[in-house]
Amino acid sequence: MGTPARFTGTVLTPGDAGFEDASRTWNACYASRPREVMVCHSAEAVAEALGSARGRGIPFRVRSGGHSMAGLSSVADGAIIDLGGLDAITLSEDSSLVTVGGGARLGDIYRELWKAGVTVPAGTCPRIGIGGHVLGGGMGVLSRSRGALVDHLVGLELVGADGRLRQVDDDEHADLFWACRGGGGGSFGIATSYTFRTSPISEVTIFTIAWSWAQFAPAVKAWQGWLASAEDRINTFLSLFPRQQDLLVAFGVFDGPAAEFEELLRPLVAAAEPQTLVVEPVPFIQAVDTVEALQGEAAAADQVRAQGSSAIVAEPLNEAAIATLQEFLTDPPSHRAEVAVYGMGGAIGHRARTDTAFVHRTGLMAFEYRTDWDLPEDDGKNLAWVRALRHSMAEHTTGAAYVNTIDLALENWLWAYYEENLPRLMQVKRQYDPGDVFQHPHSIPVSLTAEDIARHGIPEQVAAEIRSAGLLS
Ligand SMILES: Cc1cc2nc3c(=O)[nH]c(=O)nc-3n(C[C@H](O)[C@H](O)[C@H](O)COP(=O)(O)OP(=O)(O)OC[C@H]3O[C@@H](n4cnc5c(N)ncnc54)[C@H](O)[C@@H]3O)c2cc1C
Repeated sequence: MGTPARFTGTVLTPGDAGFEDASRTWNACYASRPREVMVCHSAEAVAEALGSARGRGIPFRVRSGGHSMAGLSSVADGAIIDLGGLDAITLSEDSSLVTVGGGARLGDIYRELWKAGVTVPAGTCPRIGIGGHVLGGGMGVLSRSRGALVDHLVGLELVGADGRLRQVDDDEHADLFWACRGGGGGSFGIATSYTFRTSPISEVTIFTIAWSWAQFAPAVKAWQGWLASAEDRINTFLSLFPRQQDLLVAFGVFDGPAAEFEELLRPLVAAAEPQTLVVEPVPFIQAVDTVEALQGEAAAADQVRAQGSSAIVAEPLNEAAIATLQEFLTDPPSHRAEVAVYGMGGAIGHRARTDTAFVHRTGLMAFEYRTDWDLPEDDGKNLAWVRALRHSMAEHTTGAAYVNTIDLALENWLWAYYEENLPRLMQVKRQYDPGDVFQHPHSIPVSLTAEDIARHGIPEQVAAEIRSAGLLS
């Protein structure tokens, strides 16, 4: 069964130079061995690759940066449709718009935009691909001050299930455009390029605050209280590390001058006196590098064994919740375990929950319970740690989860990722991909059964919407 001649990209199969690199998935814990990687350098080649895989009846997955937490851009004995060659970054003449290929990496986008004095508010890890990242929402360095990445998306080009390349925006295929802003990767088609509205950026203020483990509860309380009333220009994260590291770090980027920030920071420092405190005005691109460096070794690695799970929290945690976090970090299975907290609110909350498919507009914090380790024999205890932590924290969270931290252990993932946006996402799926051509274990389904509705914990009112739209099978 060969590849049809009309595929104008490059096909790599086991034994070819470059196959091992091209087929490598960031998370080795969920690695699967494909039979081929179809490297595309044009939108036409993407459509051809799709036709080729479908024509041969082999499973396929779409890949941009390969950073799916659950390895969902690869598939055993199937084809990876690899967009890595579609990495052009093209600014409009006045730099107010940028069009990026579906395989561009965040680091390259930040750097290219910086040359023109503009940016988009994207994630913290420069090696992530834009392809998967933006489809799930995109939160990171400047989200509180400038919004989620999807809020800056003005259109995309997408190869659909029928193999046609479509322009998708507010005027054309508006429902599909809505779904592509938070509905997750790999469900509706293959995005070959994205166009974003940029905004000017120059100098920002970076800050890093460290506390010792002994200050665990006061530091968490102080940071979340500060966050709850923080003005929009404050972008902030909290990293809680295991006891043996004796370190808790709050960091972030103030989207304004250092002189103003010192005053704004005072309540946090007063509430829990830090061991070290650094506040520094820097060119924005240096802030991107600093935030990256604070992400740890796993983010910079080609491949790791890792597990992550997310939870959205709407209000500051109470004492019991903070004690639970502390207990789980006292002796975790890996010294690289971490509870990473993204400060939400600010401009993320300027849009309504149903404006785009990215529903998490009312959260205060997005928690990521994560760990990485070296040996396959340690998989079990690390996976169990994340799962137990998520279960133990459940009563303190909204029950929602962020699709970009895709977690195959989530039992009710459809509800957790999408909440009230689920029926509309399913309608868009039914309209544009009725045959479920684009699928993976956590893709948007074409229909649900009554058992699915119960398993995902979908409330009756939303279940009724699904029923009345004829999406129950
Ligand atoms: C180290 C690390 C740091 C992270 N930091 C952040 C962060 O700061 N903020 C944040 O919001 N998220 C973050 N994430 C999550 C990240 O946004 C998601 O994992 C995202 O899906 C990665 O995109 P990718 O293109 O690299 O992954 P891939 O594995 O290539 O793709 C992920 C999913 O999207 C699909 N997909 C990829 N490209 C396309 C396309 N062009 N068209 C259609 N479907 C496509 C794939 O089929 C797959 O299902 C981080 C993840 C990691 C591993």
